[in-house]
Amino acid sequence: MLRVAFLGPPGAGKGTQAVEVARHLRMPHLSTGDLLRSAVAARSPLGLEADGHMRAGRLVPDALVLQILNERLRQDDAKEGFLLDGFPRNVAQAEALARLTPLDRVVCFEIPEGLLVERLTQRQHCPKCGTLYNLATKPPRRPGVCDLDGTELVRRSDDREEAVRTRLRVYREQTEPLIAHYRALGVLVPIDATGTPDEVRHRVEAALR
Ligand code: AMP
Repeated sequence: MLRVAFLGPPGAGKGTQAVEVARHLRMPHLSTGDLLRSAVAARSPLGLEADGHMRAGRLVPDALVLQILNERLRQDDAKEGFLLDGFPRNVAQAEALARLTPLDRVVCFEIPEGLLVERLTQRQHCPKCGTLYNLATKPPRRPGVCDLDGTELVRRSDDREEAVRTRLRVYREQTEPLIAHYRALGVLVPIDATGTPDEVRHRVEAALR
């Protein structure tokens, strides 16, 4: 099994693809965003500290994210390989990760910035099963309700326009330099992230073969 990370701006479809590809290729899906949102929901000390940063669209301090990721990487299912979604987000995190495990591929989602704000502000998800919807491109069959389990859909607190703008700026300033970092290491695989979710999934799976 491969050790893979997805890289790309918020709204590029990393989360949607990570859920599908992980299911298809039977890889554990490790999303630091999901792990942090669970900690916030559980009101753990780490979650309480992360909450304000997340609502504002800023990065959570590296030490907290590394702690949560480290615990997850130590679980048995992640020993052979994994699909990392949302980590690393800056060069310091990439260097910390390299001390824990190497990466075989970094799939970089390429998409024009103009599409991102619209995608993010139209987004809803199921709090129970995690399925992602988009009012413009992938609406639920019944408005406001999950197709799979009937749970009422919610919006992420950081999908408000102001937090979205902060997240895009943070991406450009802190995360985008990772493209050159991983290109230099020879593991970067850029993919075209425009088009339907199925089209993008085929490109991602081709990149992992
Ligand atoms: P995501 O679900 O990946 O879009 O992450 C949502 C939010 O969680 C981000 O805007 C950050 O506040 C926080 N977060 C997720 N992953 C990281 C990370 N690797 N480093 C710092 N903050 C993170």
